[in-house]
Amino acid sequence: MTTPLKLNGRLTIKDLNALPEIPIEGITYDQMYIEKQPICPEYIAPDPNIIPSSKRTVVIDPGRICMPFGAMWASVGVHGCIPFVQGAQGCTTYPRYTFSRIFREPVSIATASFQEDTAVFGGRKNLIEGLRNLIIRYHPEVIAIVTVCSSEIIGDDMEGYLEEAQDALEEELGPDVLEETQFVIIHTPSFEGSHVEGYNRAAKAFLKTMARRTTPNNKVNIIPGMITPGDIREIKHILRLMDIEGNILFDISGTLDCPLRLPQAMPYYPKGGTKAEDMKDMGNSMMTFALCPDEGGAGARYLEKRFKIPAAIGPVPLGIHNTDIFIKDLAEATGRPIADEIKDERGILIDAMADTFHYTMGIRVAIYGDPDIAAAATRFCCELGMEPVLIGSGTESKQFVKDVWAAAHEYNLKPTILNGSDMFEWEDYLKKDKIDLILGNSKAANVSKEADVPLVRIGFPIYDRVGYQRRAYVGYRGGEYLLDLIVNTILDSKFPDDRVHQ
Ligand code: SF4
Repeated sequence: MTTPLKLNGRLTIKDLNALPEIPIEGITYDQMYIEKQPICPEYIAPDPNIIPSSKRTVVIDPGRICMPFGAMWASVGVHGCIPFVQGAQGCTTYPRYTFSRIFREPVSIATASFQEDTAVFGGRKNLIEGLRNLIIRYHPEVIAIVTVCSSEIIGDDMEGYLEEAQDALEEELGPDVLEETQFVIIHTPSFEGSHVEGYNRAAKAFLKTMARRTTPNNKVNIIPGMITPGDIREIKHILRLMDIEGNILFDISGTLDCPLRLPQAMPYYPKGGTKAEDMKDMGNSMMTFALCPDEGGAGARYLEKRFKIPAAIGPVPLGIHNTDIFIKDLAEATGRPIADEIKDERGILIDAMADTFHYTMGIRVAIYGDPDIAAAATRFCCELGMEPVLIGSGTESKQFVKDVWAAAHEYNLKPTILNGSDMFEWEDYLKKDKIDLILGNSKAANVSKEADVPLVRIGFPIYDRVGYQRRAYVGYRGGEYLLDLIVNTILDSKFPDDRVHQ
């Protein structure tokens, strides 16, 4: 029998790194001595012995948010859908706030409003009464029932409760109500993963509930992942140019970035979003493209297993190499030729890269974001002659590491990869190195200011700028936009005016 490890007093970074193992009860925050040093003219580089986030019992500056949020993001991309959160009000309020900050749009999300008594008696009554209220007042076409930490820990029997709720609804409102409203249950215990996994689970849950095999439709399925409405419009533009019909799952371009036209009927539903019949039809398609492997890959794999629909899972079509793969796969799957306009768009991006290569070449970049976007951005930076030296992902992913290493190997680079780290760890590495540019989301803005390294915003979430949600980063045109952002930021920060003006 081994003696349990005893910790006495406060531990420095060095002590922590020297520990043979982390004791089962963890290391409490007051036992740790962590000094965060501000950047200033007298700045002294931090101790190179950085505590890996995996050795800490606290997460500092998390680079992820909770699992139900990803499921809610997916659900609001469905036409006439309201997510119903089987949990407390806080689990609903902060996602609504986050949606408003990113998209500047109100989002309807219902809550079962758990109170103390629910922790004892369970959420059965809340679900049955909540669904009844929602249907009577808002008449949604689809209700996505999203569980949270509390309902999963209590052990709410969601499937059983839903059956009871449906029986009660049928009895009170007649059988039509069940024809008019579809229910999808998405299990998202946040202690098992982040928003990335929440979106992934939603993709599988929606397809499992809705997709059916009837008649082949000569379409492709697209599961975009948590990319912007602008990105989804760019994917539609590519499909249009190639004369391909597509079913896009979770089409937020029509719900989270929709036109304001008055008067609006109440209850208000945006006219866009993926329709229930399109999700049903996804069982008949030729191929499924899950653009982000960790956000939607599970849905593509489900369709492959259930209906034998081939799946192309990732990479995010960002930059030359990744977009080439997407376009080539589209052409092969559908037998459609690659449109001349697409070849021109590619040529314009290549031209822009050649025109700006002397600015981007050798720029040392640190990247942080969700795994799929961070990996794709890494490759694009390599294509621009930049040197990604530090790449971090807030959510752990094997595919992320594989994709980053593949790009690094091709370009003969040896970056530091932080898989599933918090931003505190990433920041420590960043300050240790000489970094010229950061690519990351709004959470990296403080680090950028503190370390005096300019930031190009990309990924999720971006809430400290307007308009980002309308822009596309994917496809050749998206690459062009991102390239302009990168080069203009470098010009602003690295070059004296006389060089910029030439
Ligand atoms: S982490 Fe759990 S309890 Fe907290 S908001 Fe998310 S789902 Fe709710």
